[in-house]
Amino acid sequence: MKVATTIKETRELVKAWKREGLSVGLVPTMGYLHEGHASLIRKCREENDRVVVSVFVNPTQFGPNEDLEAYPRDFKRDSELCDSLGADLIFHPEPEEMYTDPHAFVSIDTLSETLCGKTRPIHFKGVCTVVSKLFNIVQPDNAYFGQKDAQQLAIIRKMVQDLNFDIRIVGCPIIREEDGLAKSSRNTYLSPEERQAALCLSRAVKKGQELISTGCSADFVLAPMKGLIEAEPLAKIDYVSMVDALTMQPVETVDRSVLIAMAVYIGKTRLIDNFSYEI
Ligand code: AMP
Repeated sequence: MKVATTIKETRELVKAWKREGLSVGLVPTMGYLHEGHASLIRKCREENDRVVVSVFVNPTQFGPNEDLEAYPRDFKRDSELCDSLGADLIFHPEPEEMYTDPHAFVSIDTLSETLCGKTRPIHFKGVCTVVSKLFNIVQPDNAYFGQKDAQQLAIIRKMVQDLNFDIRIVGCPIIREEDGLAKSSRNTYLSPEERQAALCLSRAVKKGQELISTGCSADFVLAPMKGLIEAEPLAKIDYVSMVDALTMQPVETVDRSVLIAMAVYIGKTRLIDNFSYEI
């Protein structure tokens, strides 16, 4: 497995593979890899001749008061994991390699304005920009994203369609801890007490999955979910919402495929979880 820190090196390696007619898959990550990332890398390994994992804590997707500095990093462990999963290349640039000031941005307005976009107004602009850059640098045939970040996945699908990227986007299921908590690099911020409290998110997901059916009202599903979270003293709801699975706009009735998504503060840590219901 190779590690490239420059765009030039990455392009040269990928071009050589393409000349041989090999297919290339990309798994974009911010590192501090866990089993959720590993599931994407495994899927990518199954479906492509060559596997590229990017490890880059993207500064432009963090707001001014967010956790850019504190975001956990352990590149040695990440590279060992990627190697053991059969990745061929890690692209691990410094921010200076990726951004000049001023810099062009890519954004998808409507889909980015609901759910996480409300609390994190610049987040998806940063995500779209870095993912576009990674797509242009690596030019993968396939790119792998987790359903854990469901709004991000919907936005990237729309971006790929609107901007005509010739890349197949593959969505992968949420990987959870044994007790239900969705795996996240940010779970490391939780104290033991908060880690227990964080289970209210996956409990709410389970409750919502039990209640939802075609034709029922959003509130019929959301109110008991919110009730479960509000019963946890360490939890504070950012949002618990039901949106159209494609447009990310709120829906009142389950009359189409929907995403039920939430963001909840457990102490200072903001955690997300979701489930989809397809019609
Ligand atoms: P991140 O490093 O948090 O930016 O995540 C990189 C990719 O891994 C994104 O596509 C995430 O949706 C995906 N991912 C993170 N956590 C999980 C999880 N628990 N299950 C599935 N995919 C995940």
